[in-house]
Amino acid sequence: MNNVYDVIIIGAGPAGMTAAIYAKRAKKNVLVFEKANYGGQIITTNDVENFPTYKHISGFEFAQNLYNQIIELGVEVKFEKVIDIKDGEVKEVITSDNAYKTKTIILATGADNRKLGIENEDKLTGKGISYCATCDGNFYKDKIVAVNGGGNTALEDAIYLSEIAKKVYLIHRRDSFRADEILVNELKTKSNIELILNSNIISLNGNDKLESIDIKNNDGNISNLKIDGLFLAIGRNPENQNFAKIINLDEKGYIIASEDCHTNKEGIFVAGDNRVKDLRQLVTATSDGAIAATEAIKYINSKKSTNL
Ligand code: NAP
Repeated sequence: MNNVYDVIIIGAGPAGMTAAIYAKRAKKNVLVFEKANYGGQIITTNDVENFPTYKHISGFEFAQNLYNQIIELGVEVKFEKVIDIKDGEVKEVITSDNAYKTKTIILATGADNRKLGIENEDKLTGKGISYCATCDGNFYKDKIVAVNGGGNTALEDAIYLSEIAKKVYLIHRRDSFRADEILVNELKTKSNIELILNSNIISLNGNDKLESIDIKNNDGNISNLKIDGLFLAIGRNPENQNFAKIINLDEKGYIIASEDCHTNKEGIFVAGDNRVKDLRQLVTATSDGAIAATEAIKYINSKKSTNL
């Protein structure tokens, strides 16, 4: 059968790129699609300290190493946005540019930044509002910034920014953090981080750039905070909208799959943060990539007698 890939992987984050290593090393014909930059969410992490063998590595360097590894193996990567997939014995992946045939698909699209969903958020993004402290933090040297959120990302961002900015406010809607204890303890050592707890941002003020935010305390008190930059780290949403027609998702939009990474469709697998799971980490994303590729290889081999 001509022009049919063995494995098409959608998403060049740690899960997708690890799947590519496994599939390519098994001598499969592999194509990876990426709609933006390779690396996925990890490129926004300043310092990875919990991936075995690395005591410290920047998320960017990790992603670069992984990308170099798949390119050296001969994996084909296309920077095209996938807009649809079609099931069948031979499956189809449709991008904004083209359509591609494949025996198996691995959905490794990860997750995208959750938005506050209030007025001016889009207008001021890039003009004082950012979702990536390691990308944009250097613009705020000796300035006043705020971080919103109480998870690992928010605390890592606040700690990172405290080394650059004069003052960092950490705004969180509760009085306890869901971030790891090690980060909470480190946060407490930073004298230029001030906590604003039990509070939500209700207004983003400024025309050409962010000038201040209004914060509502859970008691109902509203205050105005003048800041130069706001870093939103309030979680992520899975990027599965384009597959919802044929792939089963849970009520939050995550692909329903267990540790074997099988979806409800034969020959379509999932890897990484876009599936239902308890622990979303670099190490579990790469683990998913290895499992999904291995399952895809098994599926292809099981169909050999049918000439797929
Ligand atoms: P997260 O763990 O989902 O935390 C999101 C935070 O934002 C929570 O504190 C949540 O508050 C708050 N939040 C959610 N919606 C909000 C809204 N509309 N308004 C205000 N606050 C809101 O997200 P994350 O920190 O991006 O982490 C995502 C995953 O990546 C997690 O599994 C995390 O462990 C992992 N991660 C790991 C590392 C690491 O290990 N080094 C680094 C970064 C991320 P509540 O707590 O009240 O729900």
